[in-house]
Amino acid sequence: MRLLEERIQKDGTVKEGGVLKVDSFLNHQMDIALFNEMGKEWKRLFADVPVTKILTIEASGIGIAAIAAQYFNVPVVFAKKTQSINLDGSVYTAKIQSFTHQRVYDVIVSRKYLSEGDKVLIIDDFLANGNAITGLIEILKEAGAEAVGVGTAIEKGFQGGGDRLREAGVRVESLAIIEDMDAASGSIRFR
Ligand code: 5GP
Repeated sequence: MRLLEERIQKDGTVKEGGVLKVDSFLNHQMDIALFNEMGKEWKRLFADVPVTKILTIEASGIGIAAIAAQYFNVPVVFAKKTQSINLDGSVYTAKIQSFTHQRVYDVIVSRKYLSEGDKVLIIDDFLANGNAITGLIEILKEAGAEAVGVGTAIEKGFQGGGDRLREAGVRVESLAIIEDMDAASGSIRFR
C-alpha cells in the first residue's frame, strides 16, 4: 500500500536490532485517516472472505482493528496480555515470545467471545517473527474457530515470519513489507 510505505519512509525511524519505530502515526499517536485507508484496503483484499469477527492483541493492534472493523461490520476481540492465567477454564490461552521485550508472556481470550464456527480475521500492527500471530491462531484452534486470514500493517519480511505463515497455508496480507532496513543510514527498502 503506497500511502503506508510513503508514511513509513517519511516518519519511521530505524533502530538497532531490526526495530522500526512508527510512534508518530501507528504505535503511540494514531493517524485515523491513515487507519481508515488501511481498513478499506484490507476490506478490498479480503472481499471474498467471510468474516464474523476480528481478533487482535493489545495494545497497539486495537486501534487499527477497531477502525478496520467498520468496513467488515463485525466485532473486535482483543487478546489480553496477562501475568496470571485464570485456571477455571473460562479462557483460551497461548504463550507468545515477545520480539520487542525479549520475554514470553501469556495471552488470554474469554471463551464467551470466540466460538466454533467463527470466521476470524486476525489484524495486527507488526509481523516480525510471526510469534504473536501464531499465538492468536492457536487460540482460534482451541476455540474451534477458523482463521480466515491475517492482515498486518507492517511486515518485516527479513525476519521471515510472514513467509513461514504463508508456507503453512495462512492467507497473509501485509500492507507494507520491508525487505531490509539499516539503522546507521536510516534506509528502508520495501519488497
Ligand atoms: P512477532 O511476534 O511477529 O515477532 O512480532 C510482532 C509483535 O512485536 C507486534 O505485535 C509488535 O507489537 C512487535 N514488533 C515486532 N517488531 C516490531 C518493530 O520493528 N517495531 C515495533 N514498534 N513493534 C514491533
